[in-house]
Amino acid sequence: MRLILLGAPGAGKGTVAKLLTKLDGSVQISTGDILRGAVQAGTDLGKQAKAYMDRGDLVPDDLILGIMEKRLQEPDCQKGFLLDGFPRTIPQAEALKGMLAKLKIRLDMAVNLNVPREVILDRLTTRRTCENPKCQAIYNVKSMPPKVAGKCDKCGSPVVQRADETEEAISKRLDTYNDKTAPLIGFYKKEGLLFDVNATSSDVVVNEIKKKLGQ
Ligand code: AMP
Repeated sequence: MRLILLGAPGAGKGTVAKLLTKLDGSVQISTGDILRGAVQAGTDLGKQAKAYMDRGDLVPDDLILGIMEKRLQEPDCQKGFLLDGFPRTIPQAEALKGMLAKLKIRLDMAVNLNVPREVILDRLTTRRTCENPKCQAIYNVKSMPPKVAGKCDKCGSPVVQRADETEEAISKRLDTYNDKTAPLIGFYKKEGLLFDVNATSSDVVVNEIKKKLGQ
């Protein structure tokens, strides 16, 4: 399948994407994970992106588009892809449209995960992430803590609160979402690709997507 996952930070795009990869071998492409990996590895990309990310701002479009243009041409994308956190602005959506037309790739749909703001705030402040850039497993101190406190179940690396998940950065990220990313809902509606889902739980979302795709 070839999907865009839209929704505010904390709406569950990453969790849904991980569940969907198990269905048909489509790959999850998370620009947030790619950027966090680059920051940890200390690459040029990471150095350029870090300050924007820590403040809860978007990284400039040209950096993201450079990453995505290469990523979409990697062989593992042939079985399908789940775009998690990209596009985030109208110029990114326009550029993606051009890239896909050039590569002769057709999207199935853009799934918008609708989640109330209170739920988002609670999820983000209680979320913890494995700091190993190759793992980045997600936990929640209330609903899904790691078996050993502070240690990833999957790889044993420290499980930490992301720098951009302090209350101040979260509030900034939600404002950025409303200003820059929410307009994509209208963009994909016009394109005839929008599928709006009430994202109460990730299993519900996965089932809705499967039904819609006729699987
Ligand atoms: P995420 O994990 O998707 O919430 O992304 C974490 C941070 O990475 C965001 O707050 C942005 O600073 C940056 N980021 C991720 N994806 C994008 C994107 N498509 N465009 C611009 N910045 C992005």
